[in-house]
Amino acid sequence: MGNFDDSIDTDVLVIGGGTAGVVAAIASARMGKRTILVEQNGFLGGTATAALVTPMMANHINRLPLNTGICEEINQRLERTGDGALASDGNSGWFNPEKLKFVLEDLVLEAGVECIYYSFVHEVLVDQGRVAGIVLHNKSGKLRINSRLTIDASGDADVAFKAGVPFESGNPFNEGKNQAMSMRFHMGQVDLPRVAAFIRSIGGYCGDYPFMHAASVWGHNLPLEPLLRKAVDDGILEMSDGDYFQFFSVPGRPGELAFNCPRITERVDGTNVFHLTDAAQRGRRIIARFERFLKAYIPGFEESYIVMTSQMVGVRESRRIVGSYTLSQNDVRQGAKFEDAIARSCYPIDVHSPNRGDEQKLDFGNLPEGQYHEIPYRCLVPMVMDSLLVAGRCISADFHAQSAIRIESNCRAFGEAAGTAAALCIDHGLEPRNLSGILLRKILYERGCNLL
Ligand SMILES: Cc1cc2nc3c(=O)[nH]c(=O)nc-3n(C[C@H](O)[C@H](O)[C@H](O)COP(=O)(O)OP(=O)(O)OC[C@H]3O[C@@H](n4cnc5c(N)ncnc54)[C@H](O)[C@@H]3O)c2cc1C
Repeated sequence: MGNFDDSIDTDVLVIGGGTAGVVAAIASARMGKRTILVEQNGFLGGTATAALVTPMMANHINRLPLNTGICEEINQRLERTGDGALASDGNSGWFNPEKLKFVLEDLVLEAGVECIYYSFVHEVLVDQGRVAGIVLHNKSGKLRINSRLTIDASGDADVAFKAGVPFESGNPFNEGKNQAMSMRFHMGQVDLPRVAAFIRSIGGYCGDYPFMHAASVWGHNLPLEPLLRKAVDDGILEMSDGDYFQFFSVPGRPGELAFNCPRITERVDGTNVFHLTDAAQRGRRIIARFERFLKAYIPGFEESYIVMTSQMVGVRESRRIVGSYTLSQNDVRQGAKFEDAIARSCYPIDVHSPNRGDEQKLDFGNLPEGQYHEIPYRCLVPMVMDSLLVAGRCISADFHAQSAIRIESNCRAFGEAAGTAAALCIDHGLEPRNLSGILLRKILYERGCNLL
């Protein structure tokens, strides 16, 4: 186990200050538990800030959000400052990633959460079948944190993995290949009205700031496709650059567009540092090509420049723990309901295929209009290992179900459930597997979550 430069005791330890982890920490601290939140970056938000993933995909029915609670509280804070916006279709998840860092930090500090940044999980301390704490590695050396309850919100299930919890990763048909990654970027000084007018002039949908959106995928005959094809013929882009091309405008950032590309389809294991390094390098090379393409081919981009490229490579799917219940694609497609539901979702199955060309035969698995499925508490509880809960995109779900539930608003809801469950376990002296998911659901409902 090694020597430690320091040691701390806490009630709840949350690993990963990202989409789910921040909300888990807020929920646990608000229930009076000493809560420590550990994050490898020097800021909060994870994929939503460091990987520039904005906006949140819509998850509402008849304009009513399915994820309320702390998720909506975050959205409303952003909206009040002009850095978030509610679209006319009812999606309250349009936001400025840079300002999200500030809002999350305010909420975390107001709740009394203690943050430790710039720290990475070095070792998981397992004692008689339960996670007893974590050893962190950082500039100060090695820090040991003893915890009564640990929440793994690392996205990749790093804690569960190191503790020996079984996991799955990748697709079922194709040698465990993970979903494609993306390396996102922003362009600035874009003449948004001219871009919107141009896309409308070629028959496309675009919307207006702050709700602009356009996309192209080879073979879908979207209006931008001929332009991308010409750029390939002209030697500006490579064929694979046009596999998936998409941008959104960003509230609070007039003149900017956020790109959900380039897509990376080879060497896409988000837990392999060589794959991540390769993806970051390839991603930036493609972004340099996109910059040339945009300035030369799309009216409105002439004076634009690259504002930033994402710090984190965007990883859609990696380890998924084997939990007390594994959500299946049938559950998603059939709108399954559970007594111990902790979140609701109507987002479709959405696999960004690791295989080039597959997007032409996409099966989105949409639920009928007005229908949703639920996600049970048991998906957050590892099948083996006590004193540990998991929140975020790495909860227990099969490959296709995960592609539907991984959206940010759901990950926040998993975080709120995990933080609340951790506090309840401590109050009642229970292990997570023995906590009643029905009681948890009732308490989440009383705290504002849409779970009636
Ligand atoms: C390219 C891309 C596009 C997407 N598009 C959308 C979209 O348009 N809308 C939408 O709603 N969702 C989208 N998603 C999905 C969604 O953004 C993610 O599934 C979700 O944000 C994941 O949340 P999380 O909390 O599980 O992980 P994260 O938000 O990534 O949080 C994990 C945190 O843990 C930290 N961490 C990891 N390992 C360690 C460690 N060992 N020690 C310390 N800290 C650690 C990380 O730095 C990070 O802050 C997209 C995802 C990607 C990658």
